Amino acid sequence: PYDVLIVGGGPAGAAAAIYAARKGIRTGVVAERFGGQVLDTMSIENFVSVAETEGPKFAAALEQHVKTYDVEISNLQRAEKLIQKDGMTEVQLASGATLKAKSVILATGARWREVNVPGEKEYRNHGVAYCPHCDGPLFKGKRVAVIGGGNSGVEAAIDLAGIVSHVTLLEFAAELRADAVLQRKLHSLPNVTVITQAQTSEIHGDGQKVNGISYKNRSDDSLHRIDLEGVFVQIGLVPNTEWLKDTLSLSRHGEIEVDARGQTSLPGVFAAGDVTTVPYKQIVIAVGEGAKAALSAFDHLIRQ
Ligand code: FAD
Repeated sequence: PYDVLIVGGGPAGAAAAIYAARKGIRTGVVAERFGGQVLDTMSIENFVSVAETEGPKFAAALEQHVKTYDVEISNLQRAEKLIQKDGMTEVQLASGATLKAKSVILATGARWREVNVPGEKEYRNHGVAYCPHCDGPLFKGKRVAVIGGGNSGVEAAIDLAGIVSHVTLLEFAAELRADAVLQRKLHSLPNVTVITQAQTSEIHGDGQKVNGISYKNRSDDSLHRIDLEGVFVQIGLVPNTEWLKDTLSLSRHGEIEVDARGQTSLPGVFAAGDVTTVPYKQIVIAVGEGAKAALSAFDHLIRQ
């Protein structure tokens, strides 16, 4: 069996693998797509000590760093079930194989919920964005829309209003769902327009980048178009924990509940990165949490 088996090959899983392997213990990584979400982004400008890089380049560097150690990587393998018996944790894969480990680190990440309208996929990274902390500065002085009036949408609109020239917030329902204090702050900003009952119908572009958004006013079915340069989709981040339901404690948003050491509700099972309750879903945070989970797993092993 593995001493540490890591499920997930994004920044959190890669950091956990490096920290575990450096302890000289048998370490494995199983990942559906090694690299994780960073494969889907072009520019990364906030990974401390790297002023600017590209997602695929960053992912290749993660893999290269992991491969300098004795880590068994099973890429393109999906975990489907986690079972504990006889003091061991077993991870069952979609391929039918079962991997056994004395400790497991779950780092399966999360995915942004998409609006699924024409233009969203075509202009992803060319005006369509999901992370205001990451991409907000790229729209300095430009006009943007935020889709979604929950806490994350309203927080994004407040954040972006300080950077861009104008923010239009589009909410599907008749009212915003964000906390009252956030709504008050939002309404106090001079360069924000809030449109409720707005169903986004299309994101427009010139073939290269975004130049507008259309929505239907749900109260009278009228169609409207706004000229702008960016669209931030903020309708939810979904943790990849469907396969862990009824296995360990998840928050009401489906995130794995962890303590300050990355310990989950199951002994010997740790978690790190976007899949957990730890706030602020960022690479630098996922990497730190992955390192922490590996050290916690090692600490667990030496006490067995
Ligand atoms: P992930 O990167 O999501 O990796 C999860 C891993 O688990 C993947 O290998 C996946 O294939 C695997 N996996 C999932 N389910 C299973 C399963 N059942 N079995 C096996 N493997 C599984 N952050 C920044 O800090 N700066 C940025 O500029 C930035 N830009 C971004 C741009 C985009 C378009 C996106 C989508 C995200 C961006 N982020 C950015 C966020 C950042 O990518 C995440 O915070 C980070 O990747 C989280 O790392 P993670 O390892 O926790 O999860």
